[in-house]
Amino acid sequence: MSERPPHHGPDGRYRIPWPLEVADERNAGGVLRWQRERMRQTLPPNPRPADLPLVPGDVARPRAEAGEVRITWIGHSSFLLQLGGANVLLDPHFGTRASPLRFLGPKRFVPPGLALDALPPIDAVLLSHDHYDHLDAWSVRQLHRRFGDAVRWIGPLGHAAWLRASGIRNVADVDWWDEVSIEGADGPLAITCAPAQHWTRRRLREYNDRLWGSFALRTAGGRRVYFGGDSGYFRGYTEIGERLGPFDAVLMPIGAYEPRWFMAPAHMNPEEAVRAYREMGSRGAFVPMHWGTFRLTDEDPLEPPVRLRQAWTDAALPPEDLHVLRHGETRIIS
Ligand code: ZN
Ligand code: ZN
Repeated sequence: MSERPPHHGPDGRYRIPWPLEVADERNAGGVLRWQRERMRQTLPPNPRPADLPLVPGDVARPRAEAGEVRITWIGHSSFLLQLGGANVLLDPHFGTRASPLRFLGPKRFVPPGLALDALPPIDAVLLSHDHYDHLDAWSVRQLHRRFGDAVRWIGPLGHAAWLRASGIRNVADVDWWDEVSIEGADGPLAITCAPAQHWTRRRLREYNDRLWGSFALRTAGGRRVYFGGDSGYFRGYTEIGERLGPFDAVLMPIGAYEPRWFMAPAHMNPEEAVRAYREMGSRGAFVPMHWGTFRLTDEDPLEPPVRLRQAWTDAALPPEDLHVLRHGETRIIS
């Protein structure tokens, strides 16, 4: 029998295999303390529509040219990634709320930057993990209804079973460092699951029953994109850069970080996202995500890109490599 990897716990659940830099307070007592602190303060207001404009995108139809990297921000961690002549959706969420309920839970500030029925043909969907702001059952059903088994669904271990239960058959479960490939117009597009520091749960009784992860995509022509999924800052970014980079574009989460004592193990802040980018080799376009769409935590929802720009300047990184997209906006990475 092969040895159990350190992120596979002996109880069959997954776990973060390295020591945390900020102790994990995400237990019942921690949740209570967070809610109590929340009630004692006035949280910054939700953004107004004018603060988060929805702009028309520039999606290539049906697909982008081989060699081109074209990124459209749908909102939160959802993107249409056009590369290697393939169309890939990342954590697609087109629903109204990031919640198991239709009438309760974080509601969208902005409609999806690209409507479901405006999508070009989709070749693959990557799921970073099962949280409701990333894996939306309604969106999954709509995508499956529209594109059927033409779509390859790829997620960390445990997601294939969830997808199969929804009637989807063209699925691949991947562990960290596993690689699968899909066929793009530019030849095979290699997709490698990489570590992240996070957790999973969809139902109360579940906890880390499914794995979480990030992804690197590499075209036969040598273009490379990294999708950071949902993650706290951890010491693994140097290795990800060495094994899977250098990247033409790095999509990193920058929001849902306050209060730090509670959120740090699971969500990085903008300064940490810049640190991770530098440890991956400071290469390629930085595209922020996981902000400006759902209110999940206590910081001002408009603060993440402000702090990101400051951290970018403080690190003396080239301004032309920072791409803060507006909802719906498309960027072609040369
Ligand atoms: Zn999450
Ligand atoms: Zn999230």
